[in-house]
Amino acid sequence: MALTVAINVTGKCDYKEWVKTTGAIDIFLGRSAKPLEVAAAKATGAKVWTFLYGCNAEMWNKRAYDEWIAEHPSAKGESKPNTWEKGVMCPSDKYTWMFFAQAIKAKAIDEAEGVVVCFWDDYGLNCHCKRCRKNGFAGNFSKQLTAAVKCYEEALEPLGKKLLVRTWSSGAAHWLRDEWVTAPGNGGWSGSGEELWGPVIRLSSPKTIFQTKVYNADCQPNPPLNPILGLAKKLGRQEYAEWQITGQTVGHHVLPASVIKYTEKTMRAAKLAKVDGYMCYFGCYRNGSADLLKDDLNVHNVHAWSAFVHDRPYSAPPAFLATERAAAVAFAPLGLGASTESKFANTIERREDLLRYTNRQLTDEGKAALKPTKENIARVIAEKDQALEELTPYLSSLPAAQRERYDQLIAQLKVAKALDGALWRYRYLRYLMDMGDTDLEVYAAIQQDFNYIKAHAKELPEVVGSPINLIREIFEKSTYCKERIVGR
Ligand SMILES: [Zn+2]
Repeated sequence: MALTVAINVTGKCDYKEWVKTTGAIDIFLGRSAKPLEVAAAKATGAKVWTFLYGCNAEMWNKRAYDEWIAEHPSAKGESKPNTWEKGVMCPSDKYTWMFFAQAIKAKAIDEAEGVVVCFWDDYGLNCHCKRCRKNGFAGNFSKQLTAAVKCYEEALEPLGKKLLVRTWSSGAAHWLRDEWVTAPGNGGWSGSGEELWGPVIRLSSPKTIFQTKVYNADCQPNPPLNPILGLAKKLGRQEYAEWQITGQTVGHHVLPASVIKYTEKTMRAAKLAKVDGYMCYFGCYRNGSADLLKDDLNVHNVHAWSAFVHDRPYSAPPAFLATERAAAVAFAPLGLGASTESKFANTIERREDLLRYTNRQLTDEGKAALKPTKENIARVIAEKDQALEELTPYLSSLPAAQRERYDQLIAQLKVAKALDGALWRYRYLRYLMDMGDTDLEVYAAIQQDFNYIKAHAKELPEVVGSPINLIREIFEKSTYCKERIVGR
């Protein structure tokens, strides 16, 4: 079959230009694509696909869900307490699957080649009712997904539409506020990616396409390759490899930063796995009116991906390439514990959640970096200093019109350095307090971090939010740690 190149674009988008630039023959529309967007995508001559996101039916259409449950109460599922993966509908109930079939048929519009589905983040099939506990659905994601894929296949088959299933998985299991995110497919009690998806793929129709992200954690700089890339191929199904070159993944919404080396490496892996297609989600800014193709600071990432897909070399300006490692260290959300929106975390608890989210938590190197030691305080600060040094040549080469952006970036980096330094210092004091000790020099350095951030917070771009809440909490809790040992 012909190799498929597919794209999805956020922000301002001229589909004709995008198709020309990437050579895409398929366009994956966003989850709430309007008829005008469908028509614009279709007009390029590419095949268009619609998108059904998650399997929490209540979030697709609350009113339709409520009406359905009122009429068929047996379809309502039962969630376990404090669990991120909800049991909104019961997979043991036939009315659940009738509702699912309707939802997927509604997505199979005439213009569409097929429907793309993913099951996380909005998960809703993990029902723990009596029936599900008895027949093994409860807590068994693989079994739930197999049933859902079968339902979607049966709904689309008579319409002559294709089904593409994203084998999404994410990070490490972690707490998010008071809910446990099981991060299925990354080990833990829900098993490995192969244990989760292997049975689903084996029991699927040979016509169903599976799409696997090239990396196994979102929002982490230079994440490890996804161990199940190529699994669907091995099991005799069509498989696409997926990239996300978006602000969320690259880790910035305001910073020009290269992901070219990483794209080249993952592209090699996808080619070795002999996948049938390549798919990329593109996007950069939180500003929806920005056009990534017209942004000469960031468009290199798009050109590089497109060139590698078509086996062409691509050379970006060396100064841009030099931003790759530094930008990851400085801004990549979650890599050092920022949110997926690249904002400063608001509380220590949230920040530590984010640190747990990444695969850093899973590697020996990562575990060592999170330990509350003086060496790690120095490491976090040195990492930021090095990033500043590496980014400066590129940032200073920005055109005059970008000068404000440059100043904001430097301010953001410096504040992030003070904030990380303070956080690691606090973690160290917290550890010492548990050991019956404290360190007044470390405490004094936190005071200095607080003063620095107060003085420079106004220089930050608005989109990154405020660091003040977090640094204030760090300071107050550090004061408590100190006073518990030496008194006021
Ligand atoms: Zn149930």
